Amino acid sequence: MTRSIKVAFWLWAAVGMSALADSQEHEKMVRINDSIFMATTTGNVYLVTTPAGSVIIDTASVEQAPEAKKLLAAEVRGSVNYIVLTHGHADHIGGIPLWKEHGTKIIAQSSYIEFVDYVARLEGFFAPRNAVAFHRPVREVGPWVGNHGAKIDPDVFFDEKYEFTLGGVRFELFSTPGETPDHLTVWIPAYKAAFIGDNYAGAGMPEPMSFPNLYAIRGTKPRWALDWIKSLNTVLSLKPEIVLNGHGDPIVGNAEITRRLTRYRDAIQYVHDEVVKGMNSGKDVFTLMQEIKLPAKFDLSEVFGKVSWSVRGIYDGYSGWFDGNPTSMYELSPAAVYPDLVKLAGGPEPVVRLALEKVEAGKAVEALLLTDAVLAADAKNGGALNTRIKALQYLRDRCDNVVEDGWLQYGITMAREKLASAN
Ligand SMILES: [Zn+2]
Repeated sequence: MTRSIKVAFWLWAAVGMSALADSQEHEKMVRINDSIFMATTTGNVYLVTTPAGSVIIDTASVEQAPEAKKLLAAEVRGSVNYIVLTHGHADHIGGIPLWKEHGTKIIAQSSYIEFVDYVARLEGFFAPRNAVAFHRPVREVGPWVGNHGAKIDPDVFFDEKYEFTLGGVRFELFSTPGETPDHLTVWIPAYKAAFIGDNYAGAGMPEPMSFPNLYAIRGTKPRWALDWIKSLNTVLSLKPEIVLNGHGDPIVGNAEITRRLTRYRDAIQYVHDEVVKGMNSGKDVFTLMQEIKLPAKFDLSEVFGKVSWSVRGIYDGYSGWFDGNPTSMYELSPAAVYPDLVKLAGGPEPVVRLALEKVEAGKAVEALLLTDAVLAADAKNGGALNTRIKALQYLRDRCDNVVEDGWLQYGITMAREKLASAN
């Protein structure tokens, strides 16, 4: 891990998305104004008070929700009349039962149902991948809940816009798909405050200085770039003076909000349009992953979202899996012929030797491909496993992306375990 990624990783882990975030020092209650309060835990929980009762926006994860409730409890006024969920990710919906009272209305955007069903439907697939992505142990997964087996807590759904007034305070809710299809934005005109969930991370987080994850490699449906752009425009058009995020500190002042969200939006637009132009000119996905780079003017890192993954996410999101090569129509992967190729090369040794030369020449990805071939022929080949670890470590030493680093680390652990079991 490079130094900058280490800093970014700890920020990321501590503020947001990991079991490591349990450290108490990051959990605090912040008074945004006389009516808006924020508890910072895994995900931020917001309390908006009115003379006629309170509104909760997001509820944190199951693990962190009790702490968030404790932090906010003293400020709650009257009953909790509404809970609004900016989206259905686990770190935003875990505390619903803690806040729900008799008569509390729970509001979500209509796509919430399919989104949480999708997460529950594929829980066995997601659990081990989330464990790698978020640096946490694999969670025990129960029996399959079926296609529509998620617990649906909200009882009010809307498609484009929903409004309610409580104690004279008007709340306007807009559909703003982005990081998830069910994302919504809560707009309180009286305070010029926009609660935008995870469509843009708050100040103090590494993510807002980074290109977004238009495709999260732990596995997600496409995060549609054009939807995300439109949603950022919706937020910008409200001319907020404060933007309150699902993670991190608020962004204050319309000039700063506009500067940040516009840059983010334009970077997404640039990458999207370059992919579309490349697709229309007949370029394949790997060529575009190599060619498309973010221009320096956007001044965004790739510490969280990687441009090349987003390029592939957009490409595959539009085209689906078929790459136009007739070979790809059939049910054998290229790896099916690896053992034959290794045999033709004279066995594992010369291939391992070549892989090692590739690492030494800085071509670590080619080395990984070569070790894939050897391991397809001989799963516990010590030379291939050791070379693989070298290649993964080479990539790790030069890696500036927290997610990539997690998967490289995972690859090293897997190879070491194989080596140990081979001896
Ligand atoms: Zn979140």
